[in-house]
Amino acid sequence: MPEESKDLIAENEELKRQNAIKSDLISISAHQLRTSLSAMKWILKMFLDGDFGNLTAEQINFMKKAYESDDRMIRLVNEMLSINHAEDSLETTHREPTDLVKLLDEVVFDFTGESYKRGIELIFLKPDHALKDVLADEDKMRVIFQNLIENAIKYSNKGGRVFVTISEKADVTEISVRDTGIGIAKEDQEQIFGKFFRAPNAKAQDVVGSGLGLYTTKRMVEKHQGKIWFESTTGEGTTFFVDIPTLG
Ligand code: ADP
Repeated sequence: MPEESKDLIAENEELKRQNAIKSDLISISAHQLRTSLSAMKWILKMFLDGDFGNLTAEQINFMKKAYESDDRMIRLVNEMLSINHAEDSLETTHREPTDLVKLLDEVVFDFTGESYKRGIELIFLKPDHALKDVLADEDKMRVIFQNLIENAIKYSNKGGRVFVTISEKADVTEISVRDTGIGIAKEDQEQIFGKFFRAPNAKAQDVVGSGLGLYTTKRMVEKHQGKIWFESTTGEGTTFFVDIPTLG
């Protein structure tokens, strides 16, 4: 075997080893973070429930803020854990004929409360005829669209709109998630599917994120022999497209 090939194989093994270490590190730190955050949450809850005596309105107000912020961190840590887990379980994809319209309907429904709370209109433009099934791992498909719709809501401002569409092209089913949000700057577009990448305008929005969602989403789409891409203009909005091969 030529020297260069040996070097490449050794380099690849080293990368795999480093990746496994990183994955373990995320898992260990996330579990430890979650334990401490949960302990804090329950202490704050006891204060809020009046277990340590009555609080003034101002104290309750600050306690509530701390409680909510703690809760957001716990959700973020859970997201990191589930993404880490999803990444490890990417190899075990169980695919079955899946009705994506039904699945999207459920995912959109699950986000109704969240979008309403944020003052964003979430609309699923359902096709008026039945579509063919796709061969998919339903759980992973659900995570793919949860990530895209959650981002569309997260990176939008009050009064924004999010449209979800689905249609059949030649041999693929195409789903789009369009928002009228903050958009992705040209110089950040290339890195958007990278691990841990968060664009400066997203960080400035003061919303929590890990920069892992799109990275995993892309890998999951590709496990389905699909394609994911986007079009975006800063300050105007973003549309993510997903193509999944259609059955038969
Ligand atoms: P995060 O946890 O930060 O949301 P993601 O991997 O889901 O991580 O997304 C990576 C980055 O891509 C985000 O931090 C943000 O900069 C950008 N992004 C993703 N979706 C959108 C969107 N709909 N509008 C604007 N920016 C987006």
